[in-house]
Formats: sequence, structure tokens, C-alpha cells
Amino acid sequence: MPSPSSTARAYSREHGDDFLDQLKAFLRIPSLSGSPDKAADVAAAAEWLAENMRASSIEHVEIMQTAGHPVVYGDWLGAGPDKPTVLVYGHYDVVPASKEDGWDSDPFEPVVKDGKIWARGATDDKGQLMTHVKAVESYLKSGGVPPVNVKFLMEGEEEVPSPNLRPFIESHLDLLAADVCIISDSSMRTIDEPAVTYSLRGMTYIEVTVEGPKDDLHSGFYGGTVHNPALALVELLSEMFDEHNSIAVPGFYDDVVPITDREREEIAKLVVCEDDRATLELLCDHLVADRFEVLAAPTASDALRLCQYNGPDLLLLVEGGLELPVVRTLRGVRAAASPGG
Ligand SMILES: [Zn+2]
Repeated sequence: MPSPSSTARAYSREHGDDFLDQLKAFLRIPSLSGSPDKAADVAAAAEWLAENMRASSIEHVEIMQTAGHPVVYGDWLGAGPDKPTVLVYGHYDVVPASKEDGWDSDPFEPVVKDGKIWARGATDDKGQLMTHVKAVESYLKSGGVPPVNVKFLMEGEEEVPSPNLRPFIESHLDLLAADVCIISDSSMRTIDEPAVTYSLRGMTYIEVTVEGPKDDLHSGFYGGTVHNPALALVELLSEMFDEHNSIAVPGFYDDVVPITDREREEIAKLVVCEDDRATLELLCDHLVADRFEVLAAPTASDALRLCQYNGPDLLLLVEGGLELPVVRTLRGVRAAASPGG
């Protein structure tokens, strides 16, 4: 008799096209959590996801309100109390994208090219969270049961970034209690290389505003006599690094755990795939870093982001001041600025 996992796998292969169509429908919803005018779309994505989870035979599916966008919860606890419980985390919101950013096609109209889906959210995080939902469906609808209990916590504010997640978790500790938590929001480097991500770089966004003259000044009259806010900002940024490309912010490295020899060995074993190669080639002109640093070391990337801003809403001259708005992720900037995640 075939094992439950092999019948589940057979079910998922058989329904692969259907799963793909469902994912495409999900991807068409522009659930931009950072755009107030898209609030209805974020709500629609939560509804869509809850409905899809119900149709997948996941139980106790509920859209749970927070002070911001809701959490979608659901579970299947049929494995029993003596089996472990796995909590799957995912998010159904996305960041903005438009053809002006350099997309070849509408980011909210999925297209399949070379075996890959191109759409905003396909790899962050609608695609990944759907694999977990469909995996549970594949067990439940093929006459088997998952070997573990499963709970889903899908939030709608990861990209803004998660102001209401912590209070939500703290007020639902019993509901979310689990032995293991799986973050769906990561990736496999190649289709042949299953990956368990055990560590990511943290990230801090800092918004800096430098104020200067009360109004824009004519450079012919005033150039060289007034400290230009743009120049002041460049001076600030230039002091973030020393001549060895180390970060010169006092205390920055205090709590950094060095890469171990074991980790270096493991990283060295990784196959560099074509996407990585393209990214590294893109980086070569900009970064003084070896592969280990690119993959594992801390970095301060805001100077890089500033250098690469090129859109009207990325660098704003405001009344004689220079303002850096909250970073918007662009494909090109993302690849160059935070290759380690
Ligand atoms: Zn994500």
C-alpha cells in the first residue's frame, strides 16, 4: 500500500495545473499593504486566501482583525496531541511594482516564462505560502492525513513591516502554540536544491532628513555660499565606511557572530546557479566583497540605495531640504543592495 506521502505527492502532481491557476488568481490581486488606496485589495487577498484554505480542507479558517490589515488563520489538528504541531508563517501582502520599474510585463498579470512565473508576489510570499496550503490539501484530499498537526498564520503587513504582528501573537499565544515554526517567506536557490533557511540578515531602515535653506536657491547666486543638504547627506554617508570597506558606525559589529569554519565549508559547497552568477556579476562593479561576505556578513546598504535611486519618488528635494523616503523595493536595487535577504 502506498504511503500517505506518496499518495499526497501523486495528488499534487495531478492537480499541478489547477494549483498554478489558483496561484495566478492570487497574484492578480494587488495587495499592497503600504498603499492606503489598495486597502480593499489587501482585504480581498485575505478573503481569497481564507476561501482557498477552506476549499483545501483546512479547518477553523478565520480572518482575524488587527489594528491594521487582518491575519488569516487556519489549522488542521487531526494528527492528534501526541504528534508535533507545525506553525506555518506567511504573508499575503506585496510591495509596489509597475512596468516603469523595468518589468517586461504587467506585474499583476502573471506570465510563465522559461518555467518561472513572473508576477509581483510570486516569490514573496504568495507562491511559497501556497505550497504549504496545497501540501496539506494534497494529504487531506488523497485519503491520507499529514503526519503532523498544522497551523497557519498568514499576515497582511509584512512589507510595512508587521506593526501589528507582535501584539497579535502575544494576545493569541494558545491559539498559535506549536513545536516548530516554519517561515514560508524564504526561497530555494535552485529547483534541485531543497533549502532550509536557518538564518537571515536583520534589517533596519533609517529615514534621514537633512534640512537646509527654507527654499530652493539659485546655484548661480548662492552656490558655494550655502551648505547644500545633498552634500551634507553625502558627507554623512561617506563616514559610514572606512577605507577597508568596513562599516565605521561605532558599535556596529559588537554583537555580530563571526562565520564559523563549518559555515564557510558549507557555503563553499553551494552550487552557484545562473541567477546567482548574474547577481554577482551585477555586484562586481559595486561591492568589494567575497562570496562569503555577500552571503553571510552584515552590511550597511543605504549608501548603495542612495546611489541607485532613480525614480521621482525615490529622492525628493523638499523646500531646500533633502529627504530620503522610506525605501521602496525595486528589482534592481534589491538585487544590488541586499543579496543576503
Ligand atoms: Zn516576504
